[in-house]
Amino acid sequence: MQFKDVIGQEEVKHKLILSVQENRVPHAQLFLGPEGNGKLPLALAYAQYILCPHRTATDSCGVCPSCQKISKLTHPDLHFVVPSTTTKSVKSNPESDLFMAEWREYVTQKEGYVDASSWYEFLEVENKQGYISVRDAATLLRKLSFKAYEGEYKIAIIWMAEKMRVDTANKLLKLLEEPPEKTLFILIAVDQEELLTTIRSRTSLVKVPRLEQKDLKNALIQKLNCTEQQASDAAIVADGNWIKAVELVKDEEDQKYYFRTFQQWMRLCFKAAISELIDFSNNIKSIGRERQKQLLDYGLNIVRNSLLFNNNLAQLVMLPEEEKKFNSGFAPFVKPANIIQIADLLEEASRQIERNGYAPLIFLDVSFKMTKLLRMR
Ligand SMILES: [Zn+2]
Repeated sequence: MQFKDVIGQEEVKHKLILSVQENRVPHAQLFLGPEGNGKLPLALAYAQYILCPHRTATDSCGVCPSCQKISKLTHPDLHFVVPSTTTKSVKSNPESDLFMAEWREYVTQKEGYVDASSWYEFLEVENKQGYISVRDAATLLRKLSFKAYEGEYKIAIIWMAEKMRVDTANKLLKLLEEPPEKTLFILIAVDQEELLTTIRSRTSLVKVPRLEQKDLKNALIQKLNCTEQQASDAAIVADGNWIKAVELVKDEEDQKYYFRTFQQWMRLCFKAAISELIDFSNNIKSIGRERQKQLLDYGLNIVRNSLLFNNNLAQLVMLPEEEKKFNSGFAPFVKPANIIQIADLLEEASRQIERNGYAPLIFLDVSFKMTKLLRMR
């Protein structure tokens, strides 16, 4: 990761670069700030800058062996400590070192923009809280006692430092107080209240603010090909959080997908286009169970809204313009005589999908029944 790949944060980047150029990199720093603002990408770009033998006034070279190893998170002088917990594969005594393969894959996938919930989701332990155990501190201590393999420095990044247990923090404190030679610590945290005061007082603070709206907007346009409008809408709502901005854009695209698919499906039902309905039901297999259920939910929402349209309450319908137009055209076909049956049909299909039913058959069944119901007078 180079500084140029990190979204916004020009001021922080400048300070970090200056600290290297003036040869006054503090041995322990705390990157503190809200989620989704790029603390880990900054730390990675910083580590890469420090270890790159060909760095320029503004960035690491990005191509030398050291830079390449850092971007793959495999540099032998770059160490990570992250929260972990017991999982399907690690049944007891969890510690970061046992999860490094997962960590590399996860960080690469997220391009460095990581947060607690998606990390636990990645480890498939959504319902558990991870922590940094005293075993992590012991392992780190052991690793840092060796000389640097390649670079001048050894760098330890401790992600979500607030997840350190008290015994972990105490053990780490000793390291921070008497650091091994040529060793740099970068602690990353969101919540400084949860960090021990002693840890805070032994690190030099780097405040990383929320991302600015204009930076979020530009990044959405450049990285996700968003339109101007889409990017500025998402940037406002995301509140300086890149992870949230990406989710918003994805949700909007999903919503559009459900709209188009449901619209197409209902048109086929109106036309009673049997062979096309069979194709539609077969193809639905490929979108997966979760999206099949979402599609049925979307339909259920359209049916509910129809009730509002039919009772002159259109102003209560919260949908984008195009979808609202479709919904108002659909509403007259939903009548007191069939509304319960239509709603039941969609709900029952969703339950069957949930129970692992065979999607093409379920959707075909709904298609036929819907065709009949919509044509009811
Ligand atoms: Zn380099």
